[in-house]
Amino acid sequence: MRGAVIHAPGDVRFETLDDPKILKPTDAVIRTAVTCVCGSDLWPYRGAEPIGDPHPMGHEYVGFVEEVGSEVTGLRPGQFVVGSFATSDNTCPNCSNGFQSNCLHREFMSTCQAEYVRIPHAAGTLVALDEVPDEAFWPGLLANSDVMGTGWWAADAAGVRPGSTAVVVGDGAVGLCAVIAAKELGAERIIAMSRHEPRQRLARAFGATDIVTERGEDGVARIRELTGGIGADSVLECVGTAESMAQALHSARPGGSVGFVGVPHGVSLDGQEVFFSHVGLRGGPAPVRRYLPDLIERVLTGRIDPGKVFDLTLPLDQVAEGYRAMDERRAIKTLLTP
Ligand SMILES: [Zn+2]
Ligand SMILES: [Zn+2]
Repeated sequence: MRGAVIHAPGDVRFETLDDPKILKPTDAVIRTAVTCVCGSDLWPYRGAEPIGDPHPMGHEYVGFVEEVGSEVTGLRPGQFVVGSFATSDNTCPNCSNGFQSNCLHREFMSTCQAEYVRIPHAAGTLVALDEVPDEAFWPGLLANSDVMGTGWWAADAAGVRPGSTAVVVGDGAVGLCAVIAAKELGAERIIAMSRHEPRQRLARAFGATDIVTERGEDGVARIRELTGGIGADSVLECVGTAESMAQALHSARPGGSVGFVGVPHGVSLDGQEVFFSHVGLRGGPAPVRRYLPDLIERVLTGRIDPGKVFDLTLPLDQVAEGYRAMDERRAIKTLLTP
């Protein structure tokens, strides 16, 4: 089969790879329906994370079950499945507590920009649909495998509730999905921080009521103005830089919460500042598997359409251009079709 391999910063190639096989009786192999490039794939692509030896890329996927191991229950070849970027057995204590992305047997998916993918702990990781959905739903279902699930976690972790005010820091695919989540969870006011017009439009279409274009402390001052001088109930941090984290912390009111879902790079917090802020902090890799059944239902009923974050579709063999377009901010998110 063929798939994407990163060799060095800026160097992603489409290559022939070994066909994935069932290695453990709990594995499945799926044929990729659609996959995509993630904002987090840009960290190594931009040289902000070490790459080491050349290796496959990709962790977001929907597909058709091709083959299942002897211990896999509840899945059969031909089914359309959605899974998380983190695998989970869905039975251990952490899974039972709803934190499947901290499963005691977790593996992070990393080979999904390819024609076929091996899925560890398939029975716990994958959610099979009753029937093959219309292709129009595939982008939305694909978004559920990471960015929509992560946006939901940001809103959940930040305690968004009906009538509350939410601020979303970050206008990438996760930030835009976080706007959807805040709306679905009943936020009355949703302030999106974005300076890019196409992204502002999408944020408004997803439910943002206000747009703040200022950044850093100017952005914080603007949020204070909009929230009676005290800050927002919930802040959804969807970037992961020192600047975005500071912006998020300073935008929350005393007693409010920050949900941080951007993988932190170069972020360190001052204990005294956090202590005196009275702001709650919760983050981490999203427990996407917990949300999947609900999010799949919301997509299939047309209640939400997170697939709109894909503004570029390319054949999988042009994956390198998919990375370039996102790196140069010509695309919010690239959908790849095998
Ligand atoms: Zn991702
Ligand atoms: Zn588990």
